[in-house]
Amino acid sequence: FNTSPSSSCVQVSQYACQRRTPLQDINQIFTDAFEILAENCEFLGNKELCKSFLRASAVLKSLRFPIATMKDLDGLPLLGNEMKTIIEEILEDGKCARVLDVINGERYKSFKLFTSIFGVGLKTSEKWFRMGFRTLEEIKNNPEFKFTKMQKYGFLHYEDITSYISKSEALEIYDFVRDIILKLVPDAVVTLTGGFRRGKERGHDVDIIITCPRKEKEKSILHNTITILKNQGLILFYDINESTFVETKLPSKKVDALDHFQKCFIIFKLVKEGVGATNIKDNEMESKNWKAVRVDFVITPYKQYAYALLGWTGSRQFERDLRRYATNEKKMMLDNHGLFDKTKNVFLDAYTEEDIFEHLGLEYLEPWDRNA
Ligand code: ATP
Ligand code: MN
Ligand code: MN
Repeated sequence: FNTSPSSSCVQVSQYACQRRTPLQDINQIFTDAFEILAENCEFLGNKELCKSFLRASAVLKSLRFPIATMKDLDGLPLLGNEMKTIIEEILEDGKCARVLDVINGERYKSFKLFTSIFGVGLKTSEKWFRMGFRTLEEIKNNPEFKFTKMQKYGFLHYEDITSYISKSEALEIYDFVRDIILKLVPDAVVTLTGGFRRGKERGHDVDIIITCPRKEKEKSILHNTITILKNQGLILFYDINESTFVETKLPSKKVDALDHFQKCFIIFKLVKEGVGATNIKDNEMESKNWKAVRVDFVITPYKQYAYALLGWTGSRQFERDLRRYATNEKKMMLDNHGLFDKTKNVFLDAYTEEDIFEHLGLEYLEPWDRNA
């Protein structure tokens, strides 16, 4: 895969699912620029251009060599003139004026800030921006505002939630939760997914996917686990979404559609051993011995587990390309619940991620090669 610049023998695929994308991104100076521009398009509601920037960024992330000259771009897909101009500017100046304009712009700065609050999405950000708000203080202290419970807790734990979670913190929570679940259902399958499964050292939340090979036995797990965690005082906030999954429903045509599994969005209280009473800085308040951490639980029937695991492992761009590949190249429909073959009119069963790649005629990619 793409080990040398301008090597005409290797064709780079336009789909991330046909490329290896490890965590280490040696073209970050370019991909960061594209991702900021993509995010700005998202904030402006320009979905098409957003997609183009993200696809261009993903192509560069898969390269094993740093872009050093414009010649290095020969033969690469998805890099139109707009993309090339940006790369050229960064090669010449080390920066791109358009990106600087974006990050210093009012709209981008405000949306970045507002969407960093748990429970605040594009719609709410747009509303607050139009109302003229620019800082969190203006919003938080506004007596006229009605916040959702999620947003209320988002403000309450803002500092903790917006700071990074380390891999060891994620593993600590995962081990703790898995032990509880296995005591309830000994043959449950509990897997750490999301970015940490792709090998990331830091993340913004901890994603945990849960199933059980015995039919329907997964159904009791979520409520019982939450009850135990609540009784131990380890839940600062939780919001359970019950399953709306219907087995006969065709996979969604929307690439970014949410899935229908039972899930729970949590703010978990991670207690740090040995921190607290003994850790008093001179004249300062005692530092708190815990940290609020965002945790997602998703519970799936065993039959859909492989699809859900593949979907929740990400990256988001990798998932989009998998679906686009299934639709455009295979006449199949893929989502977090299954894969439908439109030619044969059947759902294809899969019990491992390898099965799914095989159904799609793709070479298997390990989670750590899916960092598109
Ligand atoms: P990080 O959490 O460190 O920012 P991540 O890759 O784990 O990175 P998440 O937002 O946690 O990002 O999402 C993990 C994966 O799960 C993504 O690929 C995303 O497509 C999928 N995902 C996240 N939330 C949902 C949801 N509500 N329904 C379906 N899929 C989801
Ligand atoms: Mn995550
Ligand atoms: Mn998540």
